[in-house]
Amino acid sequence: MDFNERQKHIIEIVKSHEPITGDKIAEMLSVTRSTLRTDLSILTKTHVLEARPKVGYCYVGDYMPSQTVEAVMKTNVEDIMGRSVAIDEKTSIYDAIVMMFLEDVGTMFVLSDQMLAGVISRKDFIKSALGGTDLKAMPVTVIMTRMPNIIMAQKHEKMLHVAKRLMEHEIDCLPVVEVVKDFKGQEGYKVIGRISKTNITSHFVDLFINI
Ligand code: ADP
Repeated sequence: MDFNERQKHIIEIVKSHEPITGDKIAEMLSVTRSTLRTDLSILTKTHVLEARPKVGYCYVGDYMPSQTVEAVMKTNVEDIMGRSVAIDEKTSIYDAIVMMFLEDVGTMFVLSDQMLAGVISRKDFIKSALGGTDLKAMPVTVIMTRMPNIIMAQKHEKMLHVAKRLMEHEIDCLPVVEVVKDFKGQEGYKVIGRISKTNITSHFVDLFINI
């Protein structure tokens, strides 16, 4: 919800002088108490302010500027996606683990002829280590999550939709893909980036930290 200029001014006054009476707010704005009645009623009903009997108005802070809400709603995957880390399908599990540490990521994408073939993350590596696999001999294809089970995103999708997808599938990261034809003329997915819970959290922090 957006507020008019006087309501925004009241919020600022209450924020810096709480608890403050209605009379005092009226005095500070040089208006009558009855002029403020509707504004104060809107601000308390929307839970921005709380009227505490015999104390005054306090700020309870549900106010979110409509520009911030709009900015969240219109953020697309391409606005916040990061660089993807990909390995070839012939890479050994051991080399992939080393790569994951060097790149400081939790999920990597596995490519076959440059096209997305699999996803591999920390749990997959831990499982293979627990199972006594020969990490230097086995390729990542043995333990990766493979097509068609890969959950993906496209660059023009809304961030919020992709965030919901991450939550529903209980995963940390999605490859951002484009549909292309491979050298045999077959359709495949080219990885152009990644979107992770970290990208999304960091975007929320940037938008909300100064409210
Ligand atoms: P972690 O292994 O660090 O807990 P996740 O929770 O993201 O990371 O991954 C858990 C499992 O889900 C792993 O087996 C992984 O291969 C798989 N996985 C991760 N990302 C995806 C994805 N985008 N699509 C399908 N499966 C995935």
